[in-house]
Amino acid sequence: MAEIRKVAVVGAGLMGSGIAEVAAKAGYETWVREVNTELAEKGRTNIQRSLDRAVERGRLPAEHRDEALARIHTTASLDELGDADIVIEAITENLELKNEIFRTLDSICRPETIFASNTSSLTIAEMAAATTRPDRMVGLHFFNPVPVMKLVEVVRTIATGEETYRRALDFARSLGKEPIEAKDTSGFIVNRLLVPYMLDAIRALENGLGTIEDIDKGMVLGTGYPMGPFTLSDFVGNDTLFRIAEIMFDEFRETRFAPPPLLRRMISMGYAGRKTGKGFYDYSGDKPVPVDFGF
Ligand code: NAD
Repeated sequence: MAEIRKVAVVGAGLMGSGIAEVAAKAGYETWVREVNTELAEKGRTNIQRSLDRAVERGRLPAEHRDEALARIHTTASLDELGDADIVIEAITENLELKNEIFRTLDSICRPETIFASNTSSLTIAEMAAATTRPDRMVGLHFFNPVPVMKLVEVVRTIATGEETYRRALDFARSLGKEPIEAKDTSGFIVNRLLVPYMLDAIRALENGLGTIEDIDKGMVLGTGYPMGPFTLSDFVGNDTLFRIAEIMFDEFRETRFAPPPLLRRMISMGYAGRKTGKGFYDYSGDKPVPVDFGF
């Protein structure tokens, strides 16, 4: 099977831009598709900022940053991805939108092109079924922030071919990541354990168990987690957490996956976390200030 040379990433949000960055740093020609040229350029600017930070911190030589940036090409057209060897989808967590992308890519990409989704909670089989190449479909679940986090869950469906799976593992390693093998159930390994914990923290807040700051501090100082659940949720995006919770609840029908009412209210008000400047904390000042929800 052909070597992977051209990598396509669909979606240049938080995750897509991180995935494109690590692919370009690893030496792949990397194409990033967004819904319009402004968002594609915004993704590119975010990648540039992240690479600049790595140079400033002495983690990346300046010439490697320049070479990586030269390998990143942005586009608003899916047609440009037709000759990619692997496509990684990292758009909004919505099955209909993802399947629309995979159906179109299926008709324009070569039959041997590998399709991967970075979904956090949908099953890969649901997307594979929208294509004529279920044997070429895997999950490549990266973690935020992608340039820093070593883990990638490589997800095999009941239809993934052996060769495809092996290549996906090799590809993850070629990005400098540590792959783990995961089964195709909603949330895979990490979110199956992490999401109920984050939702429980919100329920604890609703029940008046403690303040946002104290619950965060408790989990950092008491368990050694690098950040508390509310800081983490604001990083992940509360809108993304909400969608993941709904999908996992739908899959398992267990109340521990149900999104708490406060999370739903926050989404209605646009409190998506760091990306909108407000979530469990307000990020408009010099340092994050917990939002008073009146609990
Ligand atoms: P995000 O909201 O930051 O970015 C999504 C991007 O997709 C947006 O920029 C949007 O314009 C773009 N988009 C939507 N439709 C598109 C289309 N048809 N073509 C091209 N681009 C399109 O979301 P995110 O946090 O980057 O999440 C993306 C995916 O990664 C989701 O499936 C999410 O579940 C998963 N994920 C998220 C995290 C996390 O911590 N946020 C971690 C692992 C996996």
